[in-house]
Amino acid sequence: MKVHFLGTAAAEGFPNPFCKCQACVKARELGGRNIRSRTSVMIDEVLKVDFPPDTFFHATRDGIDLGEVQDLLITHTHYDHYNPGDLYNRIEGFAHGINHPLHIYGNDLAMQGIMRELPHSQVGKRFVYHRVLPFKQIETQTAKVTPLLADHDQLETCLLFYIEKDGKNILYGNDTGWFPEDTWEFLKGKKIDLAILDCTGAYNGTKRSRNHMCIETILEVQRVFQEESILNEGGQIIVTHFSHNSGFLHEEFEEAFTPYGIKVAYDGMIINL
Ligand SMILES: [Zn+2]
Ligand SMILES: [Zn+2]
Ligand SMILES: [Zn+2]
Repeated sequence: MKVHFLGTAAAEGFPNPFCKCQACVKARELGGRNIRSRTSVMIDEVLKVDFPPDTFFHATRDGIDLGEVQDLLITHTHYDHYNPGDLYNRIEGFAHGINHPLHIYGNDLAMQGIMRELPHSQVGKRFVYHRVLPFKQIETQTAKVTPLLADHDQLETCLLFYIEKDGKNILYGNDTGWFPEDTWEFLKGKKIDLAILDCTGAYNGTKRSRNHMCIETILEVQRVFQEESILNEGGQIIVTHFSHNSGFLHEEFEEAFTPYGIKVAYDGMIINL
């Protein structure tokens, strides 16, 4: 299975184009893996998580035919994950040679917003909408998916996804702080091959940060994974969704995580499971 990290930044992108902080200035200078676009992951070119404003750029940069995507999972409606206006480009007359609808899965807010944005005439032809609920497993076109609860925006039911595909189990774990108890309960007894976690901050002095994770929280998650044997043999943790407010460049995140066997994602990174 191919897991392709299309973007790996928090909401503002890295560097924040408006920002003169040291991390942004250095990232502009150094370029390379310090340049991060908004977070999204593609699995086997058919299953995509989130639809950030950088989606056009991702597709052109990496030569991806988005017309092949069958399932789109939406974690939540913050602007760095959800840009439904651009889905308009998939309607009849705009996108040619498309033979299947794109199935979109998300919470109420995500689905309502998409329905307002896109023409109703395209439902069933180019789009099929699915409102999903936490802990209710669904069968998509390409995987079995269980939405999990995040601890993120307190005014929205933000979701994480437990994805079972071709015998592999992936935890899509951003955006969230320390997992809510119900999510931990779900994860106990599972065997994860790849856990993708939210590392928006660097060190912030707490092992159980709220809303987003930081280095200490990620290490605490890893400790519980080990204690509960939640990772499969050879199972890996990859961190993503980095903010310039962390003050850390790619190399600094690598220095922090490499001793623990945790990988630091960068834009365009591909992992084969
Ligand atoms: Zn985000
Ligand atoms: Zn900055
Ligand atoms: Zn968010």
